[in-house]
Amino acid sequence: LEGLAAGQLVLHHQPKRDIRSGRICGVEALVRWRHPTRGFLPPDRFIPLAEETGHIRALTDWVLAQAIEHQAAMRLAHHELEMSVNISGRLLSDPDFGDVALRLAGQAEGRLCFEVTETAVIENPELALALIERFAGAGLHISIDDYGSGLSSLAYLKQIKANELKIDKAFVLNIADSQRDALLVRSTVDLAHSLGLKVTAEGVETDTGYAILAAMGCDVAQGYLIARPMPLKELLTFLQEDRRANSAVSAGWTPVAGVGRGA
Ligand code: C2E
Ligand code: CA
Repeated sequence: LEGLAAGQLVLHHQPKRDIRSGRICGVEALVRWRHPTRGFLPPDRFIPLAEETGHIRALTDWVLAQAIEHQAAMRLAHHELEMSVNISGRLLSDPDFGDVALRLAGQAEGRLCFEVTETAVIENPELALALIERFAGAGLHISIDDYGSGLSSLAYLKQIKANELKIDKAFVLNIADSQRDALLVRSTVDLAHSLGLKVTAEGVETDTGYAILAAMGCDVAQGYLIARPMPLKELLTFLQEDRRANSAVSAGWTPVAGVGRGA
């Protein structure tokens, strides 16, 4: 992955809103490649390639180190937020990655969350579940990503030591128009809660969708309605403005669109 060597990777962040308090409670780190001739490449265009060519390890080490640096910068600006990082399934069967990740995580100044998919666990259950337990034992939060897409298995859902379940955006995008999707999301929220997991819905694009999720008892919302993924500098401005809007709401002023629901 020559983009890594050339310093062309950029880490963006997408905020997550706690539905009950209305406050931003965390961000998800999402990598981009600023290619000199091909422009801005989304991760779907190079992550699968990095996985196939064995570069995912170096990429993830970089992302993790960068995410920890950015979290420290947020803290300096008085935003103490959980930082979620996507961990490729392949790496869960690499104990050496586990060592390096734990060493890096030890330097974090706030809570880290590793997002893993169930499919990743299905590929090599013994190693993957053991590494996830090591992460959880070290105080890292674990999130089951893209839940509902691919092969979901209740057996693994039960075995993964997770704190959070993220409902795949495929079920959330049309929640206001599709009875079936709404039904699936509602039952997934209930299932997750009965397993003691917090639920994040990703792909929240509309006010109506947000209100439906709130009524279902969903805990956290992530999506374009709240904000698109953005570079650190923009994120710091966003967090500042969102905080100001939120305190305006609690003081009884008129809420700003897209901000402060549930406050
Ligand atoms: P993901 O983990 O499911 O991440 C969520 C994706 O949904 C992101 O796409 C985000 O921009 C997009 N999204 C967020 N809100 C909305 C919305 O309201 N509507 C719609 N239509 N989309 C929304 P992105 O950033 O292009 O990332 C795609 C995938 O690339 C991620 O899916 C993740 O699997 C992977 N990825 C990104 N960064 C990393 C990384 O550092 N390491 C690894 N292993 N994978 C990564
Ligand atoms: Ca994710």
